[in-house]
Amino acid sequence: MTKGTAAVIGSGFGGLALAIRLQSAGIQTTLIEGREKPGGRAYVWEDKGFKFDAGPTVITDPSCLEELFELSGRKLSDYVELLPVTPFYRLIWSDGTVFDYSNDDASLFAQIEAKSPDDVAGYKRFLAYSENVFREGYRKLGHVAFLDFKSMLKAAPAMVRYEAYRSVYSIVARYIKDPQLREAFSFHSLLVGGNPFKTSALYALIHALEKKWGVWFPRGGTHALIRGMVKLFEDLGGTFKIGSPVTSIDTEGNRVAGVTTADGWSGKFDMVASNADIVHTYRDLLAEHPRGAIATQAVTAKSFSPSLFVVYFGLNKTYPDIKHHTILFGPRYRELLKDIYDHGVVADDFSIYLHHPTATDPAMAPEGCSGFYALSPVPHLGKFKGDWETLAPIYADRILDYLEARLIPGLRENLVTMRTFSPQDFSNELNAHMGSAFSLEPVLWQSAYFRTHNRDDALPNLYFVGAGTHPGAGIPGVVGSAKATALLMLDGEGGAVVDHSGGIGHNSASAA
Ligand SMILES: Cc1cc2nc3c(=O)[nH]c(=O)nc-3n(C[C@H](O)[C@H](O)[C@H](O)COP(=O)(O)OP(=O)(O)OC[C@H]3O[C@@H](n4cnc5c(N)ncnc54)[C@H](O)[C@@H]3O)c2cc1C
Repeated sequence: MTKGTAAVIGSGFGGLALAIRLQSAGIQTTLIEGREKPGGRAYVWEDKGFKFDAGPTVITDPSCLEELFELSGRKLSDYVELLPVTPFYRLIWSDGTVFDYSNDDASLFAQIEAKSPDDVAGYKRFLAYSENVFREGYRKLGHVAFLDFKSMLKAAPAMVRYEAYRSVYSIVARYIKDPQLREAFSFHSLLVGGNPFKTSALYALIHALEKKWGVWFPRGGTHALIRGMVKLFEDLGGTFKIGSPVTSIDTEGNRVAGVTTADGWSGKFDMVASNADIVHTYRDLLAEHPRGAIATQAVTAKSFSPSLFVVYFGLNKTYPDIKHHTILFGPRYRELLKDIYDHGVVADDFSIYLHHPTATDPAMAPEGCSGFYALSPVPHLGKFKGDWETLAPIYADRILDYLEARLIPGLRENLVTMRTFSPQDFSNELNAHMGSAFSLEPVLWQSAYFRTHNRDDALPNLYFVGAGTHPGAGIPGVVGSAKATALLMLDGEGGAVVDHSGGIGHNSASAA
């Protein structure tokens, strides 16, 4: 017996995780993806035998992925193999200092001791803080929807206790004195789009999360994990419609009735969840309903994370000394972040995250070759109005020159293939508002109740999942959002079972 039907728009990690949860619970689910391949930010390209994962590469908290398979008595390991990565990151500063960041306590303490003996005790206190916030913030609240202000009030004492109103950097700086170590323990919020100088200290929990579960890489790349999730969804009987952008979410009165796609197909559903960008969903897909314009106004008034510029390149040579994940800090930290987040400047200097998947899985490139991507955070299109079509090859050249000089000798003469992804591509390919790479900026006043609600306030059978909703960006975040949203969809609230009629504009500011 069917327990109702649902459509999920978008097959990013969040959309896929939600579709799996719904289908596992007996809701007949149709997943609809606009592009030709699934994964969203976790797309993939194959050029001349090199496999380039487009986005996420640092897989943390495998337990949140395992849970998706266990819902139907299956095992993640039957679908994809996760390989451990160590060190988690090699951090390199422009003065040549190297720090290998991992969950090996002996190695961490020895490196901190060698660099700044006074900071060992401080680091231990920072770790205790991070573990407490991880327990309160991630384990208890990372998969629970905040639909009303009451839910926020319940979380308030813990937020005050852990000084959520402070920034990640200020908490790190309280415990650790060495300027480079402060960077080493605060840069993580950048991985989910947050400026460590503005993002809530709660994001310091990423340190404890990585320490507890480690850092992993799927054999065959992140996209192998995406393919495993698609296979699980289809094995469960779900329907996947790919290469089929949704053009409207159809409504009847104050309820969502179904969706229509660009090829003219329409489907009727009891519930619809959008994994697509929140502005795109309200502005474009709900253009025919008054709720669309009201919520668009509220959500576009919020602040969005910056964008990224990414260069993917393959070399006809291997580099065994380059670790899987390297962060190359530039000469400036706070000031560079100000340029990106506040001034809208594409600076002359960079801090770069370098991905080297062939360090863990040589099959990601032809034999004797190595694949890389270099990622540089840049302002989104609302702050920097330059023409990325002209700028992209110039900026890519500057990044490659920089890498050749600092880390990868012979890069140019061994270059086999290269491609780029710019803020304009985030906008064109992913419908990302202003080309933001991580949706709403993860600051306290845009978190939990203040983020887009997992269920719309006015259309009670319209839901959201993914980076723009609670808890936020990053794989553990969006997979957690799928759990929060699925709990709402499965309890019948606003779905097929209960008849609701939400008023238009109700709580519209907070809905966005
Ligand atoms: C370069 C980069 C590196 C990153 N590295 C990491 C990392 O190492 N670790 C980590 O945890 N996180 C990382 N992140 C963050 C993480 O990738 C994202 O937060 C997460 O993948 C977003 O998932 P999502 O569920 O929000 O969906 P998205 O990935 O945003 O997918 C949304 C989907 O909706 C589809 N869509 C949009 N409009 C429509 C429409 N009209 N009809 C149908 N489909 C539509 C899109 O095509 C897309 O497939 C990285 C992000 C980037 C960009």
